[in-house]
Order: sequence, then structure tokens, then C-alpha cells
Amino acid sequence: MAKRIVILGAGESGAGAAVLAKKQGFDTFVSDMSAIKENYKAMLDERNIAWEEKKHTEELILNANEVIKSPGIPNEAPIIKKLNELGTPIISEIEFAGRYTNAKMICITGSNGKTTTTSLIYHIFKKAGLNVGLAGNIGQSLAYQVAECNYDYYIIELSSFQLDNMYNFRANIAVLMNITPDHLDRYDHEMQNYVDAKMRVVRNQTADDAFVYWNDDPIIKKELPKYRHGKLYPFAEMKHEGAAAYTHEEQLIFTEPTPFNMELEELSLTGKHNLYNSMAAGISANVAGIRKETIREALGTFTGVEHRLEKVATVNGVEYINDSKATNVNSCWYALQSMKKRTVLILGGKDKGNDYNEIAELVKSKCSGLIFLGADNSKLLEFFKDYGLPIADTHSIEDCVKEAQKMAKSGDAVLLSPCCASFDLFKSYEDRGRQFKDLVRKL
Ligand code: ADP
Repeated sequence: MAKRIVILGAGESGAGAAVLAKKQGFDTFVSDMSAIKENYKAMLDERNIAWEEKKHTEELILNANEVIKSPGIPNEAPIIKKLNELGTPIISEIEFAGRYTNAKMICITGSNGKTTTTSLIYHIFKKAGLNVGLAGNIGQSLAYQVAECNYDYYIIELSSFQLDNMYNFRANIAVLMNITPDHLDRYDHEMQNYVDAKMRVVRNQTADDAFVYWNDDPIIKKELPKYRHGKLYPFAEMKHEGAAAYTHEEQLIFTEPTPFNMELEELSLTGKHNLYNSMAAGISANVAGIRKETIREALGTFTGVEHRLEKVATVNGVEYINDSKATNVNSCWYALQSMKKRTVLILGGKDKGNDYNEIAELVKSKCSGLIFLGADNSKLLEFFKDYGLPIADTHSIEDCVKEAQKMAKSGDAVLLSPCCASFDLFKSYEDRGRQFKDLVRKL
């Protein structure tokens, strides 16, 4: 009898995993506690894959030989606990997909900068004319592409949740941008659990592989000796021992495998955080053997990703910037740090155990006002009450944009960089960013 694979969660990764499992001849079943989107239902029906929605029927799930869990399902979910009691192996969609391809895997993780760096690497590989797929948190799932496409390379954005259920997967190039507190609510409020998840990106690496990482991150530095990993390619702003990329006199310098320079001016993405993202992407492409001319050109032509320090419009001399993807304090820190104008900062949403001390100094030095946008802003109101800044307490995007327009003076910027998840008032950070942009464009 065919091995039974049960897929929990039928979003992009679950539906893709089901398509691949079916193709590989497994007895495949999909179960989702919520409603399944129509396009995914069609994808499953077309291939005669059995599914259920709005419930988990135990008789159909607990008989699985192996379970593929969507990264959105927490380990505390009752069905996961039951599977754990039975000792059923639970893996991620990426782990599963990795079994059925020999493509080279370039995997990007970190607390911040994942999507930008992943998209940037993909852009360079495309420019180089390589047969490459983009997967993970962006675009189509890896499993779907492994089933339906035949790429030589995959550029994969990995969240800590995806890494949690990876065991034998091996990244030929692993990229770790940074590790700062995020999602601690999902890791028993234990930073080390989250750190361990991030470090899994080097799991199974051999001496033939590459590990690209930010040299100045104290956590990565501390963790590194505990792991076996590929050849090290550290990057940092200042030159250091063994640096694969650093800056010197307005130049960005790549040292190995192929040494080359480019003017910092030529980089299309601005801000210190994007310098790191460009370094990580340039090193990865260099390691993959892409010509330096192509890397240089691609780093100069990348247009950026929506909701990441995205310039929306300038209205009455006020520049509006959508950084809705800043769902933790550290990414807001980088956004504020890159601001050259006095800034009205929009903060708030679903707090993930945030410590706002990290942005306190920048708020003092860069902000001309604060607008809180959330179902419950009490923590923000309490924290920032003595800063001497004008504050508006809003609970809808309409009020928020109105207050921003009132508060900002010509020459200022309005920055939506909320430090928080969006689920209290919006469907997603994308929804929050788009509503913000729509309203700004109507001002
Ligand atoms: P992720 O996918 O890890 O959430 P993104 O590339 O989507 O990261 O960027 C989200 C936000 O994080 C950006 O708008 C920016 O404010 C901040 N950011 C981007 N890159 C970095 C970095 N290398 N270090 C710190 N913060 C960053």
C-alpha cells in the first residue's frame, strides 16, 4: 500500500506539497481548520486529491505515515500534540520538496531583510540567464515548482517556522542576515529557541557549501562555533578578517571567490540595511559563479519590493513612505535610521512582546510626531507619553492618514513602519500597506 501523507493547512505551501505528494504516488490527504481558498481547491480537485476544510477529522489524519505541516500551525495545536504522542514524523513543505530535486538551493533567513535579499538574489540569477525559481515565503511554493517545473536553482526565503520542521534538507548556499527578537510568542518567549530555529539554516551543510552571514551580529558570532557549516563568507560594513564583502572609501568590495568592486552610489537600494542585503546577495551570486559584470549591473537595477520603505507619493511637500512590512521593532529601527527628513512615525498593531527601548533614541532624534494605529494602543501611549511629541491615538487607517496629514509639515516624511503585526485591524501587512497607499494617493 502506498505510504499515507497528510498535509495540514492548504495555503500556498500545503496545496503545493499535496500536488507533489500525489505526483510521487503517495496516498495524499489535505486537511485545513479554516476555509480553503477556491484556487487551491481547484488545484487539488484537478489532481483528484482528497481534502477537507473547517475541521481536522482525526481518523483521516492520525493514520498518516508522515505529516507535512504548514508553517502557520503552532506546535500547541491539539492535532499536532496528538501526532507527536503517536510519534508520527512531522516535516515542512520545504523538507518534503527537497527530497525530489537535485537543484542547487540558496536559502535565505534572518529576522529582517529576508524578502529583500531573496528577491535581490533572484533578480541577479535571472539577469545571469540562469534557470531559477523563487520559493519559500514568496511566490509559488517550492513543492509546487519541484512538481511542475524543472529549475536548476531555487532561491528560497525561509522563516523560522519553516526551519523548525526541517531535518535532512541541505542549503548549498545558506544566508543568515541577522538574529533579533521576533515571534517570541511562538517560541515560549525563549529567545534561544528562536535562535536555534534560525541556525538550522546551516544544518547538513558540507565543506562544499557556503554560509553567508552578517559578521557584526553578536548572536550569530556566539552560535557559529556550535555548528558544522559550509565555507564562511561573512560580510560587514567595515573591513575585517576573512570578509567576503565590506565597504571602503565609497566602494563596495567583494573579495572572494572573484574579487571585484563597485561604487556604493551604483547600488539601487538605499539605507544601511539595504547595503547588507546587497552584500549578502552579491556574495551569493559570486559564490554561484555569476560574472562580476552581471552582479554589478543587477545590484544597480533592482527596483525594490512592495511594502519595504516604498515611496508612495509626495503631497503638499510631505513624503509618504509605506514600510508596512516592518512588523518588528528592529526593522523599524533600520527604517528610522535611514530617514533623512523629520518624520511622523505611524506605529502599532498586534504587539508581539515588543520592547520599544530599541527605537527610543531614534524616535527622539528623528520624529516630529507619532501616530498610533491599532485596536489597542495603550502600551504605546504609556511608553511614549513623556517624549514631548504630538501624539494621535487612532483605530482606523482612515483616521490615521487624516491625522498624519494634519501633523506633518512641508518637508517632513510620514513613515508607516509599525513594529507590529497587522492582524488586529487588517488581513495582513500587505492589506495594511495597500489601504495606506490608496488613502495617501487620494489626499
Ligand atoms: P523580512 O522578509 O525578513 O521580513 P524584508 O526584506 O521584507 O524582511 O524587510 C522588512 C523590513 O525590515 C524593511 O522594510 C526594513 O525596514 C527592514 N530591513 C530590511 N533589511 C534589513 C536588514 N538587513 N537588517 C535590518 N532590517 C532590515
